[in-house]
Amino acid sequence: MSTLAERLEAVHASVADAARDAGRDPSSVTTIVITKFHPASLVSELAALGVRDVGENRHQEAAAKAAEVADGRLRWHFVGQLQGNKAAAALEYATAVHSVDRASLVSALAKAARPVDVFLQLNLTDDPGRGGVRPDGLLELAERVLAVPGLALRGLMAVAPLDEEPRAAFARVRAASDELRTLAPGATDLSMGMSGDFREAIAEGATHLRIGTAITGNRPERG
Ligand SMILES: *Cc1c(COP(=O)(O)O)cnc(C)c1O
Repeated sequence: MSTLAERLEAVHASVADAARDAGRDPSSVTTIVITKFHPASLVSELAALGVRDVGENRHQEAAAKAAEVADGRLRWHFVGQLQGNKAAAALEYATAVHSVDRASLVSALAKAARPVDVFLQLNLTDDPGRGGVRPDGLLELAERVLAVPGLALRGLMAVAPLDEEPRAAFARVRAASDELRTLAPGATDLSMGMSGDFREAIAEGATHLRIGTAITGNRPERG
């Protein structure tokens, strides 16, 4: 059994290797540790080990954990599907929302009292249930975000489909990012790559990895 510190160290080393292999500076890649289903104590342990970026995918759980940890050094990233009526509450702890995929959510986030980093989630499948905007709706959604002064459009987020080579899927995100930047030159970030595919994501230009189990260990069962 490895310790949390050992797993964190091993992932940092693999991320740095993958970045160098891709001819990139390892410091251009931010690792967000996804702590969903794990207790607040694990987040505190991660913070003590130097982690500054953590991610959650359910509002209720995230809100409770952020309140319990109450560590001002941490940046909380919201990476799951977000209901419009929870958007304002999520922004009480989250500094970034990676899963913006529809105009109604943009309107809900627009009411935030402070600036928010926005990633547009791109759906790489034909299944609307997976979340994300369809590629043909991306630019229209980006225009909506750009129209709101408090929303900082950082770039794109995606999850590789189960039935496609991750590298090919991430190449599609990179191509969409090229298109997005004709409209929003500052939207250069790419939130992609999880425990099983972060090397491929780095090769395709990922700037924000969302890594759970490779660092935290298996998630506790959740009913
Ligand atoms: C859970 C989750 C992750 C992390 O997945 P792992 O396979 O545990 O690394 C990344 N992104 C999102 C959106 C998630 O929900």
